Amino acid sequence: MNDLTVKILNRLSSGNDFLSGESLCHEFGITRSAVWKHIGLLRAEGYQIDAVTGRGYHLSALTGRPVEAEVRPFLTGERFGKKIIYHPVTGSTNIQAKALAGEGAPEGSVVVADSQNGGRGRMGRIWVSPPGVNLYFSLILRPEVPSIRVPQLTLLVAVAIHRALCVLSPALLPMIKWPNDLLVKGKKLCGVLCEMQSEPEMTHFVVVGIGINVNQTKMPPEIEERATSLFLESGQFFSRPELLAFVLNHLEPLYNEWLLHDDLGFILPYLEKYSLLQSKEVSIDQRNRNLSGTVVGIARGGELKLLCADGQTILVSSGEAHLRKEIS
Ligand code: ATP
Repeated sequence: MNDLTVKILNRLSSGNDFLSGESLCHEFGITRSAVWKHIGLLRAEGYQIDAVTGRGYHLSALTGRPVEAEVRPFLTGERFGKKIIYHPVTGSTNIQAKALAGEGAPEGSVVVADSQNGGRGRMGRIWVSPPGVNLYFSLILRPEVPSIRVPQLTLLVAVAIHRALCVLSPALLPMIKWPNDLLVKGKKLCGVLCEMQSEPEMTHFVVVGIGINVNQTKMPPEIEERATSLFLESGQFFSRPELLAFVLNHLEPLYNEWLLHDDLGFILPYLEKYSLLQSKEVSIDQRNRNLSGTVVGIARGGELKLLCADGQTILVSSGEAHLRKEIS
């Protein structure tokens, strides 16, 4: 869709009334036949638009795609999601968002894709991103904090997604797996990947990439054992635009609060309550070493508190955690 078609769609979706062709001509500086052409393009995209002589145009059915016009009615925040750039397909929304952030896109801008052909998790691992079913989006943040605080954002975002999911699907009971995933019954439903551009004392921007498996009815064999979707867990289909807006609505106030604090202290009880690893025996793979012990909490800085066999409690700031066995 070209920019003007998107703008006309946004305009049509911004109210419930009919909009006259003349007002659209006037607002966008185009002719009647150009308006008609854009309406035709929108219909071809799946939008149902009624045209009534003497009244104008009315958008009567949406497509369920996470485009700005469909997300906006659910947004309640001040900044997050005010600008949403949608791609039917892209390599990776994080790459697109980093480029936009580098060009000065404001905080709260979102890049969303219907599918990704180069979606990535940590360490460049593939994030399976088929079209039409899930959410893949990246939010641009510009926190005025030293870069050492930025890794805390991954857990903050996990809390926001957790809260949004609990509202939309109360029986789901997702758990947060430190540091960047949400799981349901041991299977991954959602992953978060934060990337930043910074200097030690200054963060230029952070791109928060989020993938949520929403309406996927079958996982591909390579991840079937470890991945799940909202549909697979609840038997229900969810509106992707509504879920995207819910995540942003929950994240914005949390983020604002985090900026006022020095750390994650204010959400530690929540994080520990829903932490999959809490009180579990784990092993943690780091680049050049392997740690093991019992998780006794999450530190204010977002590190995992690990009680080791020698009785010492250490703070682990990165790594891949694997459950060893449950402590009864
Ligand atoms: P792990 O999943 O082993 O804890 P990780 O948290 O570092 O590792 P990420 O980098 O967040 O994993 O995500 C990439 C991994 O997630 C892939 O290696 C694959 O196992 C799995 N994966 C890929 N696509 C999806 C998806 N759509 N849903 C759930 N899991 C996926």
